[in-house]
Amino acid sequence: MMENFTLWRPVQAVLPDVRNILCVGRNYRDHASELGNSVPTEPMIFGKFTHALAAAAGTVLLPPQRSVVHHELEIVLYIDKPAAAGSRAEEVVGAIALGLDLTDREAQSRLKEKGHPWEFAKSFVRSAILSDFYRFDTFDDVQRSTFELLVNGSSRQVGEPRDMVFSFDTLIDYCARHFGLRPGDILFTGTPAGVGPLKAGDDVVMRLNGEDIALFQMGQANIEGVLE
Ligand code: ZN
Repeated sequence: MMENFTLWRPVQAVLPDVRNILCVGRNYRDHASELGNSVPTEPMIFGKFTHALAAAAGTVLLPPQRSVVHHELEIVLYIDKPAAAGSRAEEVVGAIALGLDLTDREAQSRLKEKGHPWEFAKSFVRSAILSDFYRFDTFDDVQRSTFELLVNGSSRQVGEPRDMVFSFDTLIDYCARHFGLRPGDILFTGTPAGVGPLKAGDDVVMRLNGEDIALFQMGQANIEGVLE
């Protein structure tokens, strides 16, 4: 199945070029309901700072002082052409990766209750973990892909884009319309059900169409705010 995807650039080569990190919340019904949230009627977009970027390789350090950090496995689109309202994904997306949108679930619940912004829960250092980036034969190959997260050898999340609430095209149009989308921007497209805690020592595998494309281990940082 991976024959429709070919390595474009290793993640370490892509990270310095990333400009904006856009993410969509509650884009898979089964995930919205597992957290007791309603399914949104328009895309729920939030952002991460670029210091959140980390390569899915070696050891990825969890931040200190965070009690419950959840994994959210997502397909990540790399924009390589300028987009405008009405642009379609196949016109502006040049490559994809798998990513983990790490989320401090305890903090997120607290912030949601207060109606405060989510950055503290969503954009801490190394909270946007990315695999290498792959080109595809046609965008249909992305639409028909399956992605899976394994933690310590057990399957935790399995997703298929056809289950998305808002399609890739809708997300591209919405983001271009409201925030602008330019080459170097990346878009996390939402997570299916199965989110759960990660802890230091966990072995993590991200799988695209049945093939392991990233293997790494979670560690624990001792000091806050240290960038690599
Ligand atoms: Zn997410």
